[in-house]
Amino acid sequence: PGDVLVLAAGDAVVADARLLEARSLEVAEAALTGESLPVGKQVEPLPEDSLLGDRRNMVYSGTHITAGRATAVVAATGLGTEVGKIASLTAAAQPPKTPLELRMEQLGRYLVIAALVLFVVVVGAGFLRGIVMVDILMVAVSQMVSLVPEGLPVALTIALAVGMQRMARSGAIVRSLSSVETLGCTTIICTDKTGTLTRNEMTATTVWLPGDRTYTVSGSGYVPEGGISSDDPDLCLLLEAGALCNDSQLVPPDDEDPRWRALGDPTEAALLTLAIKGGVDPARLRDDWPRGAEIPFDSAAKLMATAHGHDGKPGRVFFKGAPEWILKLCGHVRQNGEVSELDEESRGSILASADHLAEQALRMLGFAMVENGGIDEGAGFVPFEGRAVFLGLVGQIDPPREETKAAVGECRAAGIRPVMVTGDHKATGLAIARMLEIAREGDLAVDGRELEAMSGRELVERIDRIAVFARVHPAQKLRIVEAFQSQGHVVAMTGDGVNDAPALARADVGVAMGITGTEVAKSSSNIVITDDRFATIVDAVEQGRLIYCNIRKLLLFLLVTSLDEVVILLGALAFGYPLPLAAVQILWINLVTSGALTVNLVMEGPEGDEMERAPIRTNDPLVDREMWRRMVVMIPASVAATFGYFMWRLGTGAPLVQVQTETFTLLAVCQWFNAVNCQSPVRSALGPGLFRNRWMLGGLLVANVMQFSVVYLGPMNRLFHTAPIPMEHFFIIGALASGVMWAEEIRKFFVRRKRRGRAP
Ligand code: ATP
Repeated sequence: PGDVLVLAAGDAVVADARLLEARSLEVAEAALTGESLPVGKQVEPLPEDSLLGDRRNMVYSGTHITAGRATAVVAATGLGTEVGKIASLTAAAQPPKTPLELRMEQLGRYLVIAALVLFVVVVGAGFLRGIVMVDILMVAVSQMVSLVPEGLPVALTIALAVGMQRMARSGAIVRSLSSVETLGCTTIICTDKTGTLTRNEMTATTVWLPGDRTYTVSGSGYVPEGGISSDDPDLCLLLEAGALCNDSQLVPPDDEDPRWRALGDPTEAALLTLAIKGGVDPARLRDDWPRGAEIPFDSAAKLMATAHGHDGKPGRVFFKGAPEWILKLCGHVRQNGEVSELDEESRGSILASADHLAEQALRMLGFAMVENGGIDEGAGFVPFEGRAVFLGLVGQIDPPREETKAAVGECRAAGIRPVMVTGDHKATGLAIARMLEIAREGDLAVDGRELEAMSGRELVERIDRIAVFARVHPAQKLRIVEAFQSQGHVVAMTGDGVNDAPALARADVGVAMGITGTEVAKSSSNIVITDDRFATIVDAVEQGRLIYCNIRKLLLFLLVTSLDEVVILLGALAFGYPLPLAAVQILWINLVTSGALTVNLVMEGPEGDEMERAPIRTNDPLVDREMWRRMVVMIPASVAATFGYFMWRLGTGAPLVQVQTETFTLLAVCQWFNAVNCQSPVRSALGPGLFRNRWMLGGLLVANVMQFSVVYLGPMNRLFHTAPIPMEHFFIIGALASGVMWAEEIRKFFVRRKRRGRAP
């Protein structure tokens, strides 16, 4: 309490606070008061007994600023706030289940049913064969336990957590675990342009004045060096408009950064640089023409206005914004210091010039002015329609980020289509999309108006050919997401503003921008990209696919282990042999042998072709055909080795404890080889692949030590019904168990050969 909050549209209010200053302030308080529409706020005092919903001079924690800006002094924080009082009364709600959890639950159900059936079969068979009931119950229970992959929940959580950590390191913060998996399924990425595909480092390069006078500006970046040579009075007024209708600041080089930097909106900072280049001193100008009122920029209106007084006289109102929107306000035009009526022909020629410049990838701003006017913050831009004087246009270049083009290529190879959704002009958007190959031959660009005119059906029919949505009103993003989803696509959508929230929430993966994003956008998103780069989104998709892939490797390993034991035990029962494994030994393999290796499979690095495969389909089963094929190779190999050895050893007349210990060890060693097999579905486990995952090597070492201790340590012998194995048998066991690996190596070899045959 006592701190001052500086609030602007898109901010989340973090404490209850009394307003000190409010400019066109509107706050969405639905969460607190249930009021569905945003409420206007003011600073005047209110009667002491005003109800919560009527306290117009307060802002409350948990609400969001939807328009305007304000400063406010904090009155209460944490549980002392109005929402805090409610929160302490409400129990936390359960979040909905993620798709992965649902699939796991389904798998769990199947396993439980299988385990119950198995229990009945084992008890029945044992009973018929006359095995002592206590023994048979022990085995039947351990069979059930063996079928359930106990290590799975832990390994799964670690897989997701490790993935989230890796993603965070590369700049993508995952807010909900489910999106890690959904990312792998993404088929469309709808992305903003400014700052995401481009650098958001603006340089004004062109000024266009009525009468078709075009000036080129030299210099690049925010350095106010270089220039624009002219003594045109119209130019001077335009530069002043740009410097006054502006909330940004230029920061000269200092110890921290040797470059000129922009504080605030780069679009506006570029106008300050332009003004200085043209001989206007923004600081002096701001002192001479202090700002009275303003209508802040928002990407729905695409306009901004500020009113400036001078020596107490009624002042000037300056406007800047998208040229088409500016022209809607204008009834006059200023040329060579003279103001004249703006006829349809001039209007057309201004728009044509703006289009022409936009086609050169320039971000266009129009400027206008009303002399002797003031702003009524509540009425917005309506009172100015037809009254403003058009001043000119400024074109800014915002170069694409270097890495974007490669990331777009990577996306396409991965079966994901990138689509640009921008607030900017269609021609500018399309020019940049062409540079980056987001738009290719035959692709369409559609602007907000055309989108409005399209029926739902038309949109759905054409959507697969549209590469650029331009001049999009944030509300239209929602329509775009839904149209793609209706075609069966899994959509990732980026956003930063307040109005983007519905689209972010509706998208399968809502991606908020970490730098430019508002709190509202972030809280409706699944992922926050800390550096705002498109390439980071693509990296996150790759990570998502990797995690999914590793979860499947892990699952394969656990299922093979469980099924090995089940088949061996059933075989012994069916063929009338004594039990090949004691119950505790089954538990040992499931918990100790597997436990030492599962987590390590999760640490497996990428195969390298994650982004060359088609996206994972949301309805793909967790255990797919490839996994079944691999099980068909791996399970018979380990069962044949283990069971064959068991029969041979029984034949040699060795005591049962000895035979069981050796069989148990052989099965454990088979699982070591299985884990190595599961590291990759195609890569050979031998050669350099073996050393790729150091976690796996560590796990194997731990598993070895544990196995030796259970076989050779006296107390462990008693606990696990084991007996020391003669050394020569150890070599036979090792050689037999490695058969599992050789079998899988042969399968992998054929898979690789087939792939090579298919490759161009
Ligand atoms: P994207 O949605 O891809 O990030 P964008 O940043 O160009 O695109 P907006 O910020 O909504 O989209 O800008 C839309 C248009 O509004 C711009 O083309 C420009 O003409 C105008 N504009 C942008 N910033 C300002 C500003 N600060 N003041 C006035 N007009 C602006």
